Amino acid sequence: MTSAEVIELFERYVMPTYARWPLVFVRGRGARVWDADGREYLDFGGGIAVNLLGHAAITEAVARAAQQLVHVSNLYYHPGQGLLAKRLVELVGLPGKVFFCNSGAEANEALFKLARRWGHAEGRYEIIVFHDSFHGRTLAGITATGQDKVKKGFEPLVPGFRHVPFNDLDAVASAVGPQTVAVLLEPIQGESGIRPAAADFLRGLRRLCDERKLLLMYDEVQCGLGRTGDFCAWRTLAPEAIPDAMSWAKGLAGGFPMGAMWAREPHQDVLGPGTHASTFGGTPLACAVALAVLETVEREGLVRNARELGEYLMQRLRSLRGVREVRGRGLMIGVELTCEARPVLQALMDAGLLAVAGGTQVVRLLPPLNITRAEADEAIAKFERALATIMPAASAATVGGG
Ligand SMILES: *Cc1c(COP(=O)(O)O)cnc(C)c1O
Repeated sequence: MTSAEVIELFERYVMPTYARWPLVFVRGRGARVWDADGREYLDFGGGIAVNLLGHAAITEAVARAAQQLVHVSNLYYHPGQGLLAKRLVELVGLPGKVFFCNSGAEANEALFKLARRWGHAEGRYEIIVFHDSFHGRTLAGITATGQDKVKKGFEPLVPGFRHVPFNDLDAVASAVGPQTVAVLLEPIQGESGIRPAAADFLRGLRRLCDERKLLLMYDEVQCGLGRTGDFCAWRTLAPEAIPDAMSWAKGLAGGFPMGAMWAREPHQDVLGPGTHASTFGGTPLACAVALAVLETVEREGLVRNARELGEYLMQRLRSLRGVREVRGRGLMIGVELTCEARPVLQALMDAGLLAVAGGTQVVRLLPPLNITRAEADEAIAKFERALATIMPAASAATVGGG
């Protein structure tokens, strides 16, 4: 099929909920993808932080698991779910338990339900959330999200969420009332342009949550799972600010849909039998793939690779003309530009590099954790070329002025 034929099919039969770029992909390998016309791209969007190991990396794990057992339901036990939960608890390094689901929005729903159930006897249910946050597209997810554009037209929203400015501890403290039960935040805000929480802010939240008996909950759907150079993103910011519960999804099974919620002792049994469920949550197939992904991350030292190549990329990106600021940790990078991100993303595509927008002026890089130094250099070269096509005048001025 040609690209035009595929796009035509979408226009006729797929609901128009996404503003898509006119690119049709048919094949991928590692950090590279090919479109229907055979054109090659370096994929530093990573399918929005999903393809932890790149393309065609989970093929064997999927095939092997699919031959054994795909699904049995949560009416029964199977080895994979227990082993994966154990592995995740070990990677966090704190005693706790895990609930499995299929997406980030669902993992956050599990956090909301954990908090409500925990506070129910005391009539507490309100969750403090933050401006510019993103927590998914379910009704509670868009309510929790701190961006008006996702809520518009879907009112009435879910009661029990209160928004305050990010990185403003006083605002959180003043927002706490008799009904407050939890604080939820992304340690590094993703969709709004890679904004890390300040270390003092996280430490202050931990203190406040202890004082006021609130759950501190982190949405690590995008920033978690090693991308930032530590299995837990919050540990790269303030290792003392340990959460009571946390959500994961995106990269968890390297592209196979999976989400999870972790809760620390003594909250790990709050959601007892019958309180929460997901038909597809933690299938033998999904768990086997996630175990294989985590095993590869460990065997190949990819968390360290993410940290080192992330630092290298950020340092080189800072020197590019047209770049105002570079933020992030590891391979979760936000490049804030001096101009709009959209034309730059287009120019990056023309140069053969895929990236993702974040806010209006930020280009996000969320590549696989196993990229090489050569691929990082190639991405920088493409970035430089793309910026030069967008700002030729500035280029002349810089050269002339220097
Ligand atoms: C992507 C994302 C979500 C939503 O995940 P889905 O799998 O799309 O439901 C929630 N929170 C954060 C921080 C995300 O980046």
